[in-house]
Amino acid sequence: MIAVHLKQIPPEGQHLEGEEDAGCLDLGAIGAKPAGPVRYALDVGLSGGGVFATGRVAAPVEMTCVACLQPFVYEAEVEPFAAQVQIDGRELVDLTPSVREELLLALPNHPRCDLNNGHSCPYQRPDASGGGTQESKESAWDQLDKLKLKR
Ligand SMILES: [Zn+2]
Repeated sequence: MIAVHLKQIPPEGQHLEGEEDAGCLDLGAIGAKPAGPVRYALDVGLSGGGVFATGRVAAPVEMTCVACLQPFVYEAEVEPFAAQVQIDGRELVDLTPSVREELLLALPNHPRCDLNNGHSCPYQRPDASGGGTQESKESAWDQLDKLKLKR
């Protein structure tokens, strides 16, 4: 849980930095898996009837490419992150729901493995342009599959 104690927040605010188990993201609910902890670096302060937090949150998330159906790791990042949480009379203010919500919004609706720089998705759409080279690409992959089967 990414949380702050109200009594521990000095008037000038508090810097909160660390890692949190990605279980708090409940990624299974969207068919994804955590690939590492949630990292956060937040400046927390009191304002009015609530606590505000600004900074950066990030988490590596294992998603399935919609094209080639291979799992890949997408680095979800929210910067600048900004959240305001109502105090509700409690001394411990939980920032986790806000972090979860923002990180899930940062995930692509149609994840593709080539979202990662330098990675090209092995799947080529049949209707993609450049039909001439398409055939040779497909046969290359067929050959690769046959090689794998022989092993
Ligand atoms: Zn792919």
